[in-house]
Amino acid sequence: MSTLIDGKALAAKLRAELKEKIAAFSEEKGRQIGLAVVLVGEDPASQVYVRNKIKACEEVGIRSYSYHLPAAAQEQDVEALVSELASSDNVDGILVQLPLPKHLDAEKILRLIPPAKDVDGFSAENVGNLAMHRESIVACTPFGVMKMLEEYGIDPKGKSAVVLGRSNIVGKPMAMLLINADATVTVCHSKTRDLKAVCAGADILVVAIGRAKFVTADMVKEGAVVIDVGMDRDENGKLCGDVDFENVKEKASFITPVPGGVGPMTITMLLYNTYIAAARR
Ligand code: NAP
Repeated sequence: MSTLIDGKALAAKLRAELKEKIAAFSEEKGRQIGLAVVLVGEDPASQVYVRNKIKACEEVGIRSYSYHLPAAAQEQDVEALVSELASSDNVDGILVQLPLPKHLDAEKILRLIPPAKDVDGFSAENVGNLAMHRESIVACTPFGVMKMLEEYGIDPKGKSAVVLGRSNIVGKPMAMLLINADATVTVCHSKTRDLKAVCAGADILVVAIGRAKFVTADMVKEGAVVIDVGMDRDENGKLCGDVDFENVKEKASFITPVPGGVGPMTITMLLYNTYIAAARR
């Protein structure tokens, strides 16, 4: 039987701490920390994410500047907006909600966000600094995972860590963070041979593939720490993770639930990154 890693409780604790730090910052500097959120189009999931981010900002005392452009927005209009935010003194962080409509060049638009305001940590400069173990802004989801490990006294040093998934926003930065924390890291993906055996060798298994209940108990070592980043729907349309939680929890020493695990940490780390960006400015 495993210990549940309670992301919701940790997120609440970190947000309360952040609220105090942000209030002290505003008092000292005589201004509010600002996060600009740019949404283009009507994607319902993106609208929910943006609403949640704005609400979370309000909770901790970050001022949000919200921009909603129509789905048919022209490339130059989006670029002009992001450039304006890049040079605005009131804005400490800029977040362009992805995915952008297909006719827009997302890479080009994201490149307009200065690395110091790139609170998603997606820019080549931030990713490069992370890879070189230098000061950087770290992608929110993997950063949140590291905070969870820290909170539960799980030190990756010397451990065998397997990251399942190699996306730019989760898998790769996760692997780099674990390397920087002295773990021995293996990254797996859809072309990995003998995935089951590789996963079963992990002391720490982080799963981010987007396949409902993909990781079964036979892929998990007895006593492993299992972090489930996935946000999927099961056969009944119920929210679940990439890990077969009910069975894997019997084998793992620590495990994150879905919902209530990594999810609440992601937005919290966005707030944290915005605070850090403001403090470094
Ligand atoms: P992604 O960009 O779609 O990448 C998925 C990765 O998983 C790819 O590297 C892919 O391999 C690998 N993969 C897919 N099927 C596989 C299989 N059968 N065996 C081995 N590897 C496989 O996904 P993502 O953006 O990283 O997101 C992953 C999951 O995390 C999704 O469920 C997403 O909703 C969730 N997520 C949650 C949060 C949160 O806050 N909780 C944040 C971000 C993402 P290839 O590279 O070979 O294609």
